[in-house]
Amino acid sequence: MAAISSSSEMSPARSEEVVGDSVVMCRHRVRASLYTSWTMGNPGQTFFRCGYWERSGKLSIVLWVGDEQGNDCAFFQCYGPPCFGREKEIHTFGLKQRNSLKEKVKVLKDLNNKVTHKWTVINEKCEKMETLNIQLQGTIEELTKWKKMLQIKILELKKELRLHRRKSVVYFMLIVLVVLYVLNLKM
Ligand SMILES: [Zn+2]
Repeated sequence: MAAISSSSEMSPARSEEVVGDSVVMCRHRVRASLYTSWTMGNPGQTFFRCGYWERSGKLSIVLWVGDEQGNDCAFFQCYGPPCFGREKEIHTFGLKQRNSLKEKVKVLKDLNNKVTHKWTVINEKCEKMETLNIQLQGTIEELTKWKKMLQIKILELKKELRLHRRKSVVYFMLIVLVVLYVLNLKM
């Protein structure tokens, strides 16, 4: 079997597989898990692997000391014959299709992330605009109040001005009358 290139190319088929009459045990003396390889070199090849393999970070094989639990003891054993001919072609074709789909899914996920990010930015901008709009409406209401107050003040001032003019006319008439009276007395 070719080197295991990536753990993502392995899929657990079923664990605790029985071979013949015996259960396959890893160096921990626990039942090994059965996997199917989905590497290009060995598509469809099944193999046993230490049950702690996936738990201990997949390919990060920890040097196994004694029967320490939780560490990958790196136990590996092929199960079943390797695929050849038509079967291998079919597996390889399926694998290529899967890889192509995975690539497409990745592109779509990236696109989705970008769209989500843009959507978040637009949403934030919309919220800011909403806040500005509320503030602007408050300012408009304030200005409308001021405008009404100013109009009332202008009306009051106009009224005062008219009254002042009338008073001036009356004073002028009085002065004219006094002058006429004095002139009349002298004559
Ligand atoms: Zn083990």
